[in-house]
Order: sequence, then C-alpha cells, then structure tokens
Amino acid sequence: MNPPDSRSNNSDQRGDLLRRLQKIVTHVPGMVFQYRLWPDGHSSFPYCSQGIESIYGLSPQQVHEDARAAFQVLHPQDVQRVRQGVRTSAEQLSLWHDEYRVVKDGEVRWVEGEASPERLDDGSTLWHGHIRDISARKVSEERLRESEERLQLIFNGINDGVWDWDLLRNQVYFSPRWMSQLGYQPGELEGRYETFLQLLHPADMDRVVEQINGYLEGDSRVYEVEMRLRHKDGSWRWIMARGLALRDAQGRPYRVLGSHTDIEQRKRSEARLQLAASVFADAQEGIMITDTQDRIIDINQAFCDITGYSREEALGRTPNLLNSGHHKPEFFAQMRQQLADTGHWRGEVWNRRKDGEIYAEMLNISAVHDEQGQVHHHVALFFDITVQKRHQHELERIAHYDALTGLPNRSLLADRLGQAMVNAERRNQRIVLAFIDLDGFKQVNDTHGHRIGDQLLREVAQRMRATCREGDTLARLGGDEFIAVFIDLADVQASEPLLRRLLLAASQPVQTEAGSVQVSASVGVAFYPQQGPIEADQLLRQADQAMYKAKQAGKNRYHVFDQAQDLSLRRHSQSLQEMEQALQQGQFQLYYQPQVNMRSGALIGVEALIRWHHPSRGLLLPEHFLAEVENDELGLRLGDWVLQGAIAQLAHWQAQGLDLTLSVNIAAHHLHQTDFIDRLQALLQQAPPIRPGRLELEVLEANALNDRERVAELIHRCDDLGVGFALDDFGTGYSSLAYLKHLSAQALKIDRGFVGKMLEDAEQLAIVDSVLCLARAFRRRPIAEGVETREQGQMLLSLGCELAQGFFIARPMPPDRLQAWIANWQPDPSWGQVRKLNHELMPLLYAMAEHRAWINRLGQYLQADRDSQGEPPELEHDQCRFGEWLISLRDQGGYDSLELHTQIEPLHLQVHQLAEALIRQRQNGDPAGARQGLARLHQLRDQLLQRLQARIEAAPAADRAMAGHPPLPPPR
Ligand code: C2E
Ligand code: CA
Ligand code: CA
Repeated sequence: MNPPDSRSNNSDQRGDLLRRLQKIVTHVPGMVFQYRLWPDGHSSFPYCSQGIESIYGLSPQQVHEDARAAFQVLHPQDVQRVRQGVRTSAEQLSLWHDEYRVVKDGEVRWVEGEASPERLDDGSTLWHGHIRDISARKVSEERLRESEERLQLIFNGINDGVWDWDLLRNQVYFSPRWMSQLGYQPGELEGRYETFLQLLHPADMDRVVEQINGYLEGDSRVYEVEMRLRHKDGSWRWIMARGLALRDAQGRPYRVLGSHTDIEQRKRSEARLQLAASVFADAQEGIMITDTQDRIIDINQAFCDITGYSREEALGRTPNLLNSGHHKPEFFAQMRQQLADTGHWRGEVWNRRKDGEIYAEMLNISAVHDEQGQVHHHVALFFDITVQKRHQHELERIAHYDALTGLPNRSLLADRLGQAMVNAERRNQRIVLAFIDLDGFKQVNDTHGHRIGDQLLREVAQRMRATCREGDTLARLGGDEFIAVFIDLADVQASEPLLRRLLLAASQPVQTEAGSVQVSASVGVAFYPQQGPIEADQLLRQADQAMYKAKQAGKNRYHVFDQAQDLSLRRHSQSLQEMEQALQQGQFQLYYQPQVNMRSGALIGVEALIRWHHPSRGLLLPEHFLAEVENDELGLRLGDWVLQGAIAQLAHWQAQGLDLTLSVNIAAHHLHQTDFIDRLQALLQQAPPIRPGRLELEVLEANALNDRERVAELIHRCDDLGVGFALDDFGTGYSSLAYLKHLSAQALKIDRGFVGKMLEDAEQLAIVDSVLCLARAFRRRPIAEGVETREQGQMLLSLGCELAQGFFIARPMPPDRLQAWIANWQPDPSWGQVRKLNHELMPLLYAMAEHRAWINRLGQYLQADRDSQGEPPELEHDQCRFGEWLISLRDQGGYDSLELHTQIEPLHLQVHQLAEALIRQRQNGDPAGARQGLARLHQLRDQLLQRLQARIEAAPAADRAMAGHPPLPPPR
C-alpha cells in the first residue's frame, strides 16, 4: 500500500475505497443488495451485486429495470411470507431475516436473506442486505429430520423399548414401549440413569454396571446384557439391553442409544428346555428315544451307566442291542401290540449289559405323537431293579424259611406239599407226610435254657434233613414240630426205611455248650393219595393225629394214620350233618305200602317206609341213609318224626273212613330208649284218637331176640296202649320155639329174601313153610313181604299164607296216592282159585323148586362169558335133584306111574338132552346160538312144571292126606 498524500490523497483514498468495496461485494458469497420500498408499494433495487445471478438466476439489470422480477423467482409457497416479512421489517424498522425457496433454472434452492432497513425522508424504506444460498445445509437438515422421523416410527413400531442417554446432561429418554415393558405410563418415570439403576435386580446390578462401564470406557466393543428389571407390579422381567455410544473426537462417549427387548418368554422356555435337558441328562433313569424305524436316536448318561454302552455305540442301533434272550418273541410282540393300541407299555424286562451281565429293569415306554397324531418317536424310561429283585428274593427267603434252622417254614411247606400232591397224582406215585414232634424238648429248654434248646433244634434239624433224599422236604412248623414230605414212593412200604432213619437221626445225642443232650421224635404218618379226595391241610391234620397216637404209644416211634377208619368217620359225621338239615328242611317223607289179603283182595293195612328227597341225589331209599343214624341221637328224633307222621296219617285216614292197620318200623336203638313208651304215649295223645290195634310196631326179629326180656315187656305195655307188634324179617333171626312163645307179637313178617327165592330154592321154600307152620301153631298172623310175581302169590296162597305186601301188589307210595290205588286195585284173578295145599304134596313143590333152580343155573352158565369160570349144573338126568326125586318116586310107586313114565320122565330127559346140546354149542364157539336155545329149554321146563302143578291141583282137599310122596332128600 502506498503512503497517502494530502490533496491527491483525498481522491485517491476514495477511489481506493471504492475499488476495495467493489472487490468485497464481488467476492462475498451470495449477493449484496439495496432495496427500496415506497409506501405506495412500488419498489426498486438501487444496487444489486453480480452474485444475484448465482442466487436468483437474474442479472442486476433485470432487477434494476423491474424490482418485481426478484419476487417472481420465489417459490410460490414462500412468496407471501417473504413479502409479509419485508412489510413487517419496514413498519417496525426491524432486521429482515428469512429463509425461503427460490426456483432457479427449474431447480428449487434454499436461500437465506438478511437486511437492515432505514427510513428515508420521502417515507420510503431502504434496506441494505445480502442473500446467500443455503441449499446444502437445508438438504442435510432435511435428511436428518427424515431419519429422525423414521427412527421415531421404528421406535414406536417395534416391540423393543428405546433409551437415549445424554451423558453430558445425564438425561435419559425412555421410549413409551420401554416404559410399558415395565408397566409404566409415559412420563411416569424420571428420565435419569439412576431410574434405571433403581429398577435393576440387585443380583444383576454388579454384572450390568460393570458391563456398562466397561463399554463406556471402551474396554468392550459392544454393549449387550441380559438382566432382570422390576415391573411396576413388583415382578421381575427379563430384558436384554443393547446400546451404541456416540463418541467425540477424543473417543469420549457423550450419548448412548439403545434398546430393551423383553426376553421373558425366551427365558422361560430356555428355563424349561434347561430343565428338560437336565432331567434328560441328570435323570437316574435310563432314557432312550427311538424313531419310527426303531433306531435309537438319543440316550442319556444313565442309559450308558446302566447298560454299559456308550452313546456312540448305542445311537443308530435298535433296542435289540440289549436283548438278553430271556423273553420269548411273544413277549415283545405283545409289548408292541399294546404300544400300538394304547401308546404305553410298562413292565419288567430282563436285559443284557454290554459286559454280558443280565439285569432286571422296570421299563416304561410311551409313544410320542406329532400334530397329525402319527407316532414319530418312542421314549423308553427304565431303571435297574436288579437290586430290588435281589432284595425281593431275600424277602421271599425270609418269608419262606425258618430263621433258626434255615428249613422251609409253614408257608413254603404248603407250596411244596401242594406241588408234591399234584406230581404224585400225575406220576402215580405215593407221597408220605411225616409229622414230627420231638419228645422231651421242653425239658431241655426248661433245664438248659433257650440257647441250648436252639442249638439242639438246629442240630436235630440238620441231621433229619440229612436223612431226606433230594426232592424231599423237611420243614419246621415252629417250636419242636417238623414236617417231612417224602415224594416219589412206589408204595407205602417204601417209606419205612425213611421213617426209621428219621427217628434215628432225631434220637442221637447232641453236643451242646451244656454238654450232651438227647431227645427223640414221635412221628405221625399220613399217605397220599387216599381213597377219597383230600386237601393238604387235612393231610397235615391226619399226620398230626397219628403223631399223638405215636406219643400215646410210648414216643420215639411212628404211627400211621388209619385212613379207612377216618374216612368212614368223616363220611358219617358229614352225612349226619346233612340229615340233620334234611330233617329241619322237611326233606323226609313217609311212603306207604299196602298190605292185602291176596285171596279176598281186601286192603288190611299199610307199612310206613321212610324216603328222603335229597336235594341233589334225588329220592333216596332207607338203605342209603338209615344206617348212618342207627345209633345216633338224630336217629331217635327221626324215629319220633316217623311215628308222629304215621300216627297223624292214620288219624287222617280214619277220619276219611278208611280203616286199616298201619305198621311202623322201629329201630332197635329207638325201641331201647327207656322213655320209649312214654314218648309213644305222648305222641298218641297229641294226635286225634286212633282205634286200638290199628297201629303196629315192626321190630326186627333179630333185635327183639337180643333183648328178649325188655322187648317182651314193651310188647306187653304197648298192648295196653292198643299198639300191636310185628316181628319183622322173620326167619332171619333163628327164633326158637321157646322165644317165640315169649314174644307175644301179633304178626310175623316173612322176610322177602325167603319169598323171593322160594320158587327156585327148595330150602327157602321149606323156611317159608316152617314159618307158616309156626305162625299157625302159635296163632300169630303171618304176612309175606316182597311178593313180586303172580307165582309167588300163588305159592304163598297154596302154602296157606293169604296176607302179603310186595311190588306185584303195590309199590310204596306217597299217602295221597293211596285212595286212587284202592279204587283201581284188583288181586290177580288166579289167586282166588288157589287152594291151600295138602301138606303131603309139599315134596312135589320142593321138586318143582329144584327143577327151576337147575334150569336157572344152566341159564346162568349159558349167559355167562365163555371164559368165565362158572360150572354147569349136573348134566346127568338121573343125578340132578329132580332126577333123584323122580327115581325115588318111581321106586315108591307113589305117583301115577303111567303119567310118570309117559310124560314126566321123557320131558325131564328132553330137558337134559337139550341142555347138553346147548352146552356143546357154547363150547363150540356159538354162545349166541346157545342162548337162543334157552327159550326152548324154558318151554320144556314149563311143560314139565305144568304137569306137576296139574297134579297138585287135582289132589284132594288139604285136610285129606295124600300118601306116597316121599320127602326130598337132604341137600348134599
Ligand atoms: P322192611 O321193614 O323189610 O321194609 C320192606 C322193604 O321191602 C321196603 O324197602 C319195601 O320197599 C321193600 N319191598 C316191598 N315190596 C317189595 C318187593 O316186592 N320186592 C322188593 N325187592 N322189595 C320190596 P325200603 O322201603 O327200602 O325199606 C328198607 C328197610 O328200611 C325196611 O325194611 C326197614 O327195615 C327200614 N325202614 C324203612 N322205613 C323205616 C322207618 O321209618 N324207620 C325205621 N326204623 N326203619 C325203616
Ligand atoms: Ca318192616
Ligand atoms: Ca322185611
């Protein structure tokens, strides 16, 4: 710069200033201007720098000419505002400042203008100012705003809470979501770092603060931390915080922005997974997961521990890896079936470990289904129960063995005995049960104490055990009682040496702490099987009973239980019980069998016969039950019941106008009761009165004889009561004449045994005849029992016996059927014709009986099997009894000899010839033909007998003797 001179200095100075100003105006960015506005509204630009071109795209001349041009380039939306701003500045003479848009070359640009106004004298306003382009700044401002807007949208839109921490001012912005995550409304919390710290879980505090500080100090590159924050409701929420710090040039953070993510859900499922994983990993149970192909896809540690297989070894294999071969294929088939059906299976399985050891496991398999319900996995859970099994085994041992001796106890014995009984049955072998009771053991206990007693028991048990064979059982029942079961014996005798050895073993001296002590054993023995079915405990009782017998008999021995005796005793008491019940339940009933006069057909009486309507066995006859009560008190009550019922029935019939005699069978035991008569009397008094002599008591002849005096007395006393007496089964008791005289019974009942056989057996016929003679001699009424055929009736009639009962006349019947029977009954027509036979003709009857008997024997022989040992009767026609009789007849000439020679003898010979032929036929192997020949034989027999019968009937009346009939020779 030049030094100034004063004159030219002044103008120089001015020029210089102008140049400088010019330069400034040109170089200042933007444009410099003067703008003048008159109150009437017109305006001008007194000055405008060249910069207007870059700002407005106008030349200075253009705005000189028309100031409005400068307003025409303004953005239409901004024009009004700018004009208003100018007017305001003019009015108030205040600084004009505005930012507005200009449209230049079709492009919108932002400009900023500033000008200071001055009022001129003419009232106009003159501004001096400048305008510059601020488009660049505006764009970045706009971008910032947009991005902020976007952020805001994101903040509000995402689920995460946002925080913005201004470190310099310690102000924290918590977004609404941040607040609501913890249950707060916007504005409810103070925006400070401390607020956050106060919400932080104490247990997380150190860790989180350390993280934050570390990040701020630049130790860590990221800030990401999980923590619990307190919810407004007091609960804790898992939150994950992430943050990013803004740092200044020195790397010092001045602002940190970040987010809060609610990870409660994730934490929970993580916890569940964690739990599941730890259950899987830490479970004591082995776990195995298989896929649909049955391949093992996962196992846990316990699986490895139990099975010995590692994970690598097990994965991809099938569970068959563990198969022990212990179970049949059906077992697994059943398992699969159940899994398919129910989705579950549970049970015990024997598997094999890798080292080969077999172990027991309790296995639980469940099917796992997918959403479609298809099985996609099976989960098997198992634990080793080998130890429990062993324990169980031990428990069983304790439960089954006696602690002192180690022998099986009562419960195991029961098992073994039951098994032995089944086997014995199957193998057809015997078993022997020995009940052993030590003799003198109590004494050892008392003198030496229990310790010595126990020692003795142990030793004796040991020794007895040693005598048993393999398969036998020696058990201790308790105390000094033992049971031995010997099995597989071929017969009962085979047990003898075993029992001897047992006795010997028990009786050997035993060395104890107290010196030598000695006992012996009493043994009761029972066998199995027995006649009837028998239970194990019954067998034990039998052996027990027998053991007592052995004790009674002097100890140190065995006694065998008497089966037969016991059986009948048992049956007896059983049937007694049953009959007692039957009596109470009215299962007994009296049947009545008519007794008639065969010649006249008159009904003279009935015999009461007891019947039992057994609930399961049906109608029982007295032979099946009466013997059981024979000597029992029940028998007496039954007897009374019969008497009572019979008397009532008799009274009833009398009331109906039916007059008959009623016979009641009285058992000896009943009769011998001292109060028998009193009871009878009482019974009679209870019922409506019955006519004298209508009740008759039947007593077996044999019984009456045994106690003749008493029965005689009874008969006498009964007579006073109007009750009669009959001697039943007469002929079987061998009464002598003297006895019969003594027993004043009114009736003699000829036993049906004699009646049944008299036609074919001359001796039986002789007895019947004799009984009838006796009855006649002693003026007793004879009555025949058991008339089963017409011929028997005829024979009895011809012998002079008119009274009879029997199936041919009537079977015993219930009382209500008697009337109907009476109405229908008629005696056999032939009976009316039969006359009493002259006694002289008896030999003829005997001969006929002999012939019948001979024919019967022959018939039996022919009917019998070929190899049976039977003998035919005498075949020689002159050697049989009938033949002999014929010879004697001929010799004595007592029979019409013409008839004898022309009819009887030839018929008899024919019989024998046919008989011989039939026997040969049989021997020649044609038994059937031989049997058919019998019919012809019977024809011949009947022809022969009819001849003789005709002879009898042609004989003179009974009282006229018929000479010349020799008696039958005595039997050989
Ligand atoms: P019993 O006193 O000799 O009775 C006659 C038996 O012969 C009855 O047998 C009867 O049914 C049977 N009888 C009758 N006619 C015929 C015949 O033509 N052929 C054959 N084969 N048998 C015939 P039941 O009823 O079986 O009685 C058997 C025995 O039981 C009786 O023999 C009697 O001793 C006894 N008894 C029956 N009922 C009683 C009773 O109430 N008390 C007592 N203490 N004993 C009775
Ligand atoms: Ca009788
Ligand atoms: Ca009888």
